[in-house]
Amino acid sequence: MARITLDNLAHSYLPNPKGEEDFALKQLDHVWNDGEAYALLGASGCGKSTLLNIISGLLVPSRGRVLFGDRDVTRADTVERNIAQVFQFPVVYDTMTVGDNLAFPLRNRGMDAGFVAAQVQKIARMIGMEDVLHRKARGLTADAKQKISLGRGMVREDVNAILFDEPLTVIDPHMKWELRTQLKALHNEFGHTMIYVTHDQTEALTFADKVVVMHDGRVVQLGTPEDLFDTPEHTFVGYFIGSPGMNLLDAEVSGHMAHVAGHAVALGGSYKALTGRVQIGVRPEFVTLAEGDEGLPVTIRRIEDVGRHQILRADFAGTPINAILPEGARVPAGANRLKFQPERINVYADDWRVAPLRSVATPQKEAV
Ligand code: ADP
Ligand code: MG
Repeated sequence: MARITLDNLAHSYLPNPKGEEDFALKQLDHVWNDGEAYALLGASGCGKSTLLNIISGLLVPSRGRVLFGDRDVTRADTVERNIAQVFQFPVVYDTMTVGDNLAFPLRNRGMDAGFVAAQVQKIARMIGMEDVLHRKARGLTADAKQKISLGRGMVREDVNAILFDEPLTVIDPHMKWELRTQLKALHNEFGHTMIYVTHDQTEALTFADKVVVMHDGRVVQLGTPEDLFDTPEHTFVGYFIGSPGMNLLDAEVSGHMAHVAGHAVALGGSYKALTGRVQIGVRPEFVTLAEGDEGLPVTIRRIEDVGRHQILRADFAGTPINAILPEGARVPAGANRLKFQPERINVYADDWRVAPLRSVATPQKEAV
C-alpha cells in the first residue's frame, strides 16, 4: 500500500492548450494518505474520471508527477502501479463463469489455488453471488455483471489502492446501500487506500472519512462531512452539499455586520475589508422565522413537507431563501421575515470563504 502524491499536476486533452479553460484538470497538489477511504465528489464533467485515470495510469498527465510513496510512477502502467479499478459499467468475461471472473485477478498473479478458492467464496458472499458461481457471466443482468466487476476490484488484498469510478450507477437502489456497506467493511478489514468517485453527495458522505470536492477541474475542498457542512470553503460546496444547499446572498460586509439590500444582518465574527463579489452563506438548517422588525423581509412561496422536516421556500428581493423547519412546526399566517443564526453564517469573497478575524461564537478562546 502507498501514500499517493499528486505534485503540480494538470491535464489537458488538447495537444496545445492555451488558457486555463483548455485544462480538464487545473493545477493540483494533493496527498492521499495511505489507508484512508476518500470520496471524490463533483458534478458531471468536473474532471473526476480524468483525475482517477491519472492515478491508475490509464492517462499520462500533461504536467506534473504522480508518486506512490517516494517512487515516481507518472509513466508507469496500471499493472506496475498495482492498482484495482472498478468502472461505471461492467467489465466481465462473458464466456467465463462468475467464479472464474472473480478468480481472474488472483490467478493472473499466480496465487495459490487454495487461497484463490477461499477468496472467491468470501467475495461472492459480500456481493451476494454465492449461488451463481458456476454460471457463465453471459446472460446475467447489467446489475449482476457490475457486482462481478466490483468483486474483481476487491478480490486482491495486496493492491496499493482500489479506485471506484461511480461503480453503483447501474446497481438497483436497494442493493446500493448494501454494497456500500460491504465496501466500508472491506476497508475496515484491510485498510486499503480507497478513492470512490461519485456525483451523489449521500454516497460520498456515507462512504468516506474524507471527501474531496471537485468543481470545474479543481479540488475546492478536502474535509470531513462535518467540515463540508459547517464551513464550506467555496460557494460550490455550500450549494452542492445539503438538501437544499446553502443560501447565498450578495452583501456588503463591514466588521461584524453584513448589509443585504440595505438590511443589517449580524455575523458571528468580525471581517477585514473585502473586495470582489462578497456574499454571505447560511444553510437552511440555521434559518428561522422572525417577528417584528427582526431579520429580512421575505415573501413565503410554499412549504414542502418532506417527512422528517419541512422546507420553507421564500423569496427575498428576487433571491431564493430556504429554511428547514421542524416537523409539525406551524407557520403563522402573515409570517414574512426570516433570520439567520449569526455564528452559522459564512462570508465569501469571489466564491472563496473568508475566515473571520475573531469569532464571537468562541469567546473562551479569547480568554486564554
Ligand atoms: P467527470 O468524470 O467528473 O464527469 P471527466 O474527467 O470525464 O469528468 O471530464 C472532464 C472534462 O474533460 C470534460 O469537459 C470532458 O468533456 C473532457 N474529457 C473527458 N475525457 C475526454 C477525452 N478522452 N477527450 C477529450 N476531452 C475529454
Ligand atoms: Mg466520470
